[in-house]
Amino acid sequence: MKINLIYSPDVHPQSMDAILEILKSVSGPLEFSVLHMRWSYDDRYNVQQHRYHNDFRFRIESEYKLQEYKASLGYPLSWRELFFLCQKARYSENIPDQDFVILITNRRNSMNFFSMFDYQGERNAFVQSSDWDYFLKSPETYPVAYEVLANVLRILMRFDLTEDIKRNFHLDAIGCMNDFCENKSQIILKLRTADLCHSCIERLERNDADQQIVAQALDIFEKIRTSLKFSQGFAGNIKPKKLTVSQNGMMTAGDTEISLTPLEKTILIFFLLHPDGIRLATLDDYELEIFGIYQRLKANAAPQNIRNLVANFDGNFAYNKSRLNKKLREQIGEPLANYYIIDGVPGEKFSVALPEDLIWVDKSFIPVH
Ligand SMILES: [Zn+2]
Repeated sequence: MKINLIYSPDVHPQSMDAILEILKSVSGPLEFSVLHMRWSYDDRYNVQQHRYHNDFRFRIESEYKLQEYKASLGYPLSWRELFFLCQKARYSENIPDQDFVILITNRRNSMNFFSMFDYQGERNAFVQSSDWDYFLKSPETYPVAYEVLANVLRILMRFDLTEDIKRNFHLDAIGCMNDFCENKSQIILKLRTADLCHSCIERLERNDADQQIVAQALDIFEKIRTSLKFSQGFAGNIKPKKLTVSQNGMMTAGDTEISLTPLEKTILIFFLLHPDGIRLATLDDYELEIFGIYQRLKANAAPQNIRNLVANFDGNFAYNKSRLNKKLREQIGEPLANYYIIDGVPGEKFSVALPEDLIWVDKSFIPVH
């Protein structure tokens, strides 16, 4: 079952990489991917405006009041318009009816919801990716990934909002994904429980969403929960172990040997040697340094592999970083792995969270200036 994520131009492409990485962190029947749509200038909804402006704010009086839709202002968009953009992607990319199209956008919507699915048939939904920073000190990618998955499940459960709301959402919070939340701070509480109640799981299964889908969804929710806690400084009493890179490139975290491809090792070693972090947009300034590491790990290393990586051709860096992080999570385990993965706020510096005194890289990997 394919879930295609599309995004309006106000969303930073690195945010999409990060959202995809979270959703793909667990393998299973739900297959997520990002479609890079080319919106045309004549799109009625002015989707060309506001190209990734992190601090852009729509002038809306209150987070908690319904916003009237005013076409003349160009914002906020109505639900129909947001679903229309999903339909547009569906037609132009020939997406089959049974697959999902989910729009990520910083644009607000007329009812001021953070996400909604098209409950009139099509497997479409939108998720708002802006304004989470009022409520959350972590990247918005966690709640956005959560909302993407929540909407997929609600469509699979055949939620129908033309019915009584109580037949779909729980009006009294019970710590389930389908608790009805009136504001974003309540959604963040849901992220912390990362759960689906019995009646919702039964409803999924009644509607032919198999147990593998339920298991995959719960695993992803759990990953979001632990990563979110970690990024908010609640690592609990887990203590990271020393990460060692020996002269021949063998990597160990404590006693655990970490198995990675030479390219993945190259990326990790490079970030370990830059504990203050690196902006991904400046990666190509480090091409020679990264190639130097790669050469030590791979015989007959091809310079083009590093060229493609630092230029992020076809999302090359994003793809390899995502695979690297996934392997680290599998081999080191949660929540400890959060210390070792490469993470950051999209558009800003990315780094490894491990304290510097727990990093030991053989000096032969350190570039000579
Ligand atoms: Zn429930």
